[in-house]
Amino acid sequence: MNLDFVQSRWAMRGYRLYSRLASLLMVVVGLGSSVEWALRTNLVPDLGGRDIRLTAAFCVLLSGLALAAMATDRRWVRRLASLLCVLMIGLAANSLLEYGSSGYRGIAAWLDGAFGEGLRPPTRMAELAACGFLLLGGQGLLILNGRALVLRELFGLGVLAIAMASLASFAFVLAQQGESLLERLPILTGVLMLVGTLGWMSSVPTTGLTRVSTAATLGGVLARSLLLPALLLPLVYTFAFKLLETRLGVPQMVASTLGAVFTGGSLAWMIWLVASLLDRSERLREASLRLRAAADTDALTGLGNRRKLDDVLAGLLHADRRQRVPFSLLMLDLDHFKPYNDAFGHQAGDDALREIGRLLRATLRPEDAAFRYGGEEFVLVIHGIHLHQLPAIAERVLHAVRANDWPLRPLTTSIGGAEACDADVSAESLLQRADAALYRAKHNGRDRFERTGCAECLAGASGLESMQARSWEQPPPGCRAASQA
Ligand code: GH3
Ligand code: MG
Ligand code: MG
Repeated sequence: MNLDFVQSRWAMRGYRLYSRLASLLMVVVGLGSSVEWALRTNLVPDLGGRDIRLTAAFCVLLSGLALAAMATDRRWVRRLASLLCVLMIGLAANSLLEYGSSGYRGIAAWLDGAFGEGLRPPTRMAELAACGFLLLGGQGLLILNGRALVLRELFGLGVLAIAMASLASFAFVLAQQGESLLERLPILTGVLMLVGTLGWMSSVPTTGLTRVSTAATLGGVLARSLLLPALLLPLVYTFAFKLLETRLGVPQMVASTLGAVFTGGSLAWMIWLVASLLDRSERLREASLRLRAAADTDALTGLGNRRKLDDVLAGLLHADRRQRVPFSLLMLDLDHFKPYNDAFGHQAGDDALREIGRLLRATLRPEDAAFRYGGEEFVLVIHGIHLHQLPAIAERVLHAVRANDWPLRPLTTSIGGAEACDADVSAESLLQRADAALYRAKHNGRDRFERTGCAECLAGASGLESMQARSWEQPPPGCRAASQA
């Protein structure tokens, strides 16, 4: 499954389409409000009885125009859009300064002076709106220039919080007429901020929150199922419980208690959802780990199977030759096992194979590994051991099998050894060398060990540095040339 996106193309298109519609809405409302102010008419409906302030309308217009630039990759358009964002930041900062105690008189004051005091709607945007537009401008600027992913998402969340405060206040006022935050932040400004910040986030759906919200991952599921309720439920509760109080005469204490209970309940529901999803994913992970382990394990002996051996060898041989950990292979085949099977039955043969598995595990060091290669053949991967050190280890294994207390008849094994000493040796040729040595062990009387060295080893000119300093106890008997002969 594509983990990046659920139906990635459609999600991306949806986000980009929304982003364009948001920019269009912002341009239309921003422009409409400005014209309305200039002509003293009423073009844009003033939700909640409060008009959007003139400087806020400018900011909406600038942000809408800048957002529209995200539809193109042209450099100069993006630069122009960045300039619009800077203008917007300037406008918002100007408004904040006007509220300060320094007596600074900025653009709104100038507009009031030029067109007459006491204009409706007022020209100066509210402090809260100024903060929101500062953040929105910053978000747009960072997105346009592809910088500071985390910071721009934080800016977006800040705008979202301010816009939600305006919406919550609107819900409150709908339920009970009276003073509210709307005095300071008209609902239309709040809605436009919300549309705008989501528009900026959607304009780059391959990054940040919008990417997470469409991902086919646990995070994506959580974002899709929880973000919207988390945003909307407080609004719905504010509205509903205030309504209970004002219209149905429910005492304030009861309404507030109900509000607290429902808010707590919703939170608990969300936590339960997160917990159950995490629980399910953890169980799935465990099940897949178990399946993976089962796929790599030989059911009879509990050793790794041939598939696992292939993986291990590929991993060991993949490493860069200079960094490669030296290792050797031992290949085992039980002696005269067919007669053993024929004499005592297949079940007894299986028991013997299980016992061999146990013996191998007990004899090897923890860092080495035994695999069941086929019927009654096993391969041991011995790490950090060179060909000249192999006889001692092989002898330990031979002795463990020979000396074991077999219930039906003593069993022995023959072993062939080879080392991954040349730089570009393949797993296949390494196994072939060990097999050739095993063949000689059988040929030379069974219950014994033989080894095969490659041509490089014989000549003492191995590509591996570790090989160069090596002193051989005797020339390797089966170099590549010999084993091919
Ligand atoms: P050699 O010393 O030359 O190896 O003689 P051998 O009889 O062991 O010959 P070979 O290695 O060809 O033996 C293979 C036998 O191993 C055939 C079959 O009876 C037995 N065998 C293979 N797989 C299994 C198994 O899973 N369970 C049991 N019980 N026996 C198996
Ligand atoms: Mg065999
Ligand atoms: Mg055999």
